[in-house]
Amino acid sequence: MLAIGAHPDDVELGAGGAIYKHCKEGDIVHVLIMSRGERGVPDDKLPEDGKALEEGAKAEVKGKMRELETRKALAILGVANENIEVLGCPDIGVQCTRELIEKIQSEIVRLEPDVVYTHYFEEQHIDHVSTCLATLHATRRTKTIILYESPSTRSSFSPVYFVDISDCIAKKIEALKEHKSQAGKEYMDEEAMKAKARFRGSQAKINGYAEAFVIYRMIGGVTG
Ligand SMILES: [Zn+2]
Repeated sequence: MLAIGAHPDDVELGAGGAIYKHCKEGDIVHVLIMSRGERGVPDDKLPEDGKALEEGAKAEVKGKMRELETRKALAILGVANENIEVLGCPDIGVQCTRELIEKIQSEIVRLEPDVVYTHYFEEQHIDHVSTCLATLHATRRTKTIILYESPSTRSSFSPVYFVDISDCIAKKIEALKEHKSQAGKEYMDEEAMKAKARFRGSQAKINGYAEAFVIYRMIGGVTG
């Protein structure tokens, strides 16, 4: 399984519970992140010695902080550190170029995942749109492609596939709390995370929490 996100925290927010379940079931889970998300860190979250740096050096420190946070968060969900790759695309500058498509394609050829998770295409964040489009180009031969939601997914997102995460929502929240540089953002609020998961659960007629997905393509066989 391969989960692709634009920034550190995207795959955890959209599919953290599903990732945890894949890991628990023994699947080898890989994560590919386009950007280190260096623009998403306010200066007051920098360590004291980082605050006096010039902008370029500050961005470097911020990018490193966020990469470390996502590695810690994904470790809580069960993803091995060596299975996480963070590309250096500029934050708010991820573009669906031939170069990026080829990079994702080379990972698809190397890892041969049966399932790829990525962003939904109707998004308010341009990096999420670009990541989704590049992934869809790169995964033309992948059997199953599942699209997750993010806090900036547009309201056209109409899920058809739900994962019951009632037994692991605490893990998901624990993982997301590793994103300390993102603390204070409204979607990182524990109550907001639970409310969204509870809403998706009620949509799925589950008396608990769920993650919701759109299936872009699924190849399988129906038996019985
Ligand atoms: Zn993002």
